[in-house]
Parts: sequence; structure tokens; C-alpha cells
Amino acid sequence: MLKRNLHKAEPIPAEAREYIDALLESGDLFRYHASQDAPVTLLEQEFADLMGVKYALAVASCSAALFLTLRALELSDKAKVLIPAFTFAAVPSAVVHAGCTPVLVEVNDNYRIDIEDFTEKFTDDIEAVLISHMRGHTSDMDAIKALCNEKDIPLIEDAAHSLGTTWHDEKIGTIGKAGCFSFQSYKLVNGGEGGIMITDDADMIARCVIMSGAYENNWQKHGLDCNAFSKYQNELPLYNTRMSNLAAAVIRPQLSQVKRRADDGLRNHDTLADQLNKSPFIAVPDALEPEKRAPDSLQFNLVDFTDSEARAFMAETHLRGVPVSIFGLHEGNARAFWNWKFLGDAPELPKTRKMLSRACDVRLPATLSQDELATIADVILTSADQVKSSKAA
Ligand SMILES: *Cc1c(COP(=O)(O)O)cnc(C)c1O
Repeated sequence: MLKRNLHKAEPIPAEAREYIDALLESGDLFRYHASQDAPVTLLEQEFADLMGVKYALAVASCSAALFLTLRALELSDKAKVLIPAFTFAAVPSAVVHAGCTPVLVEVNDNYRIDIEDFTEKFTDDIEAVLISHMRGHTSDMDAIKALCNEKDIPLIEDAAHSLGTTWHDEKIGTIGKAGCFSFQSYKLVNGGEGGIMITDDADMIARCVIMSGAYENNWQKHGLDCNAFSKYQNELPLYNTRMSNLAAAVIRPQLSQVKRRADDGLRNHDTLADQLNKSPFIAVPDALEPEKRAPDSLQFNLVDFTDSEARAFMAETHLRGVPVSIFGLHEGNARAFWNWKFLGDAPELPKTRKMLSRACDVRLPATLSQDELATIADVILTSADQVKSSKAA
């Protein structure tokens, strides 16, 4: 039995209190109150430095960052955008919100994009590719980027869950034309809510900054070395999806924690994966060779389970304090594509459907102790053994 609540957040670094006290004192909660150095602007500069890119724009959520990025691409009305079929409902929602049409691509049972299906669906009417690195799993970005380059189609990364992950030592979120991250509480950096987009493209940042709500000359307060702004002033709609200085004050002192959380997360993940892979009933897929992950959760597949056995397994783990969920068996799960009814009838995606019906999800806070990890392994292994042996009996 695990005593700890796996959904409980890590405390926010004490430094945040000073920043917040200063904001309460000054009342400068709006990013454009002060003429320069607003906490949101400082966060953007620090995040751009952390990622090694020219520009960053902090906004209300990763969904807002994805929406603005897609709008900034100036695609045609209802443009088709390729996205993986395994992602969070917010991703196809951002595509729809941007006036585009998502085209779902199959995902294999290693949670990564099926490159054959991707290639097949990458027809001449596709106007953009949005790769969502779901649960921080990186698909074959070499193949994806090569195809995008060959067809001269923009590649956008949804790196909401990939802060700290690298591919051939390149930071995830910097591989495409723009990368979007989330600061929602279940991500590596917890701002309650929040998101940020990064890019090296001057036109892209200028459009996104203005559309995020930089009315009149407020783009000047972003302190960016970019002369594309005057071109777009008053030419683009203002969607007003800015970040508040309060969120930035909570997020900034956590940036120095990213490496520790990523390293500890990977160690915890790999320790648990090694334990689970000893069972004939469980398979934890390997990372791809160029990928170095920063997991804050673990996904694994049940091997040779029926639906009712899989449901019984979930129930057993809950009883023992390790709430495992199965994406496709958990009623109404927002990560199962057939629940995205706002897209109309669900497409035929047999590989993704099969994967979702046996893929398990468990949170792994970076601060877990070795004892707690051993308990989690024991709960999962015992629950699987119990379900499979009661069937044999
Ligand atoms: C959390 C998440 C999002 C949405 O992020 P918000 O900041 O809540 O909008 C998008 N994509 C993935 C893969 C996520 O995990």
C-alpha cells in the first residue's frame, strides 16, 4: 500500500514569496503596467536563455500558445494540420480554435507516431504539422523533420510535457519553427496555469506577441531585438491571452529546478521500468535511441489482458494506493481520440485504439524516495499477478 498521494504537487520555491510580496505591494499585476522588466518579460528572457532561442512569449496556457502559433502561420481557412491521434483533447481543440482541421495520425504501442501512416497522410493539402510529444515521448523527429523540409511545410512542436527532454542533444521545442510549453500544475514547472512559445523566427514572434494582446505600442515592453513589429501593428486581431505577473512570479524561481526534476524523473522512471519489465504481463517501451527523456509519469502496456482483466487490474492498483489509469478504458478520458466528439465522427485508427485500450498511466513525482518507488513497483506487479492468477485458478 502506497501512503503518498501521487497527485500532490511539490512546494513552490520560497523565493516566489518575495516576488509575490513585491507585486502585492506595487499592484503591478498586469504585464504592461510597468514600462520594462515586468516579471512576465523577465520570465520570457530567462526561458529563451534556458532553451537557447532568440524569442519567447508567455501566455495563458500551452493551448493559447499553440493557437497563436497556428494563427501566425497564416494558413488557409480550414487548413489541414497533421497531429498525432494520441494526445490531450486540448491539442485538436487548439487546431479547431485556430480555424484549422486536424488530421489524426496513427500512434504505435510505443506511444510514438507511426511514420508510415504519417507519410501516407502527409498529402499535398496538408498545410502544417503539429507534433504533440504526448507524455513527453518523442517520435522520430529526424524522419518527421526531413519530410516537413522536403515538402516545405512548417513543423510546430507541442512540448507541453517535454521540458528538459532532448533529441540528439537538441532541446525538444527547438526542432521545429516554434515550440509550445505548458506551466499547468501537472507539468514539470507548476504555475497553476500558463504557457510559453519559443521561436527564432522574427515574423512569427511579432505576430504572436501582437495577437496575444500587445495593443498599441506595448510590444516595445517585450524588450525584443526584432524589427518586425511595426509591420503588424493594428493589422492583426488581439486575442488577449496574456500571462499575469503573478503566474510569472511563481514560475521564474522554478526554472532553476528543471534540471533536477528532469534528472530525478528519469532516474525514477528507469528504475521502475526495469522492475516492471521483469513481469511477463507488463511491457514498458524503450525510448528511441536519440532521445533523453524528462518523465514525470510512466506509461506501460498490459500484455495479453482482456478488457475485464485490464479493468480489474486498474481497480487493484487503486485499492493499493497507486491509481493507474488506462487511457482507453477510463470512461470519457480526454486522451482517447473517440471522445473528441467536437471533431465529428471518430476516424478509423486501429493501432492507436488498440494501444489506448492497454496503455497504463501512472504519475511519478520527481521527489519519490527509493522506498516509495519499490512500493509502486510492488503494487503494480502484485496487481497484475493477482488478476492473471485468479483467471488461471
Ligand atoms: C497539458 C498538455 C497540453 C495543454 O496545456 P495547457 O497549458 O493546459 O493548455 C497540451 N498538450 C500536451 C501534450 C499536454 O500534456
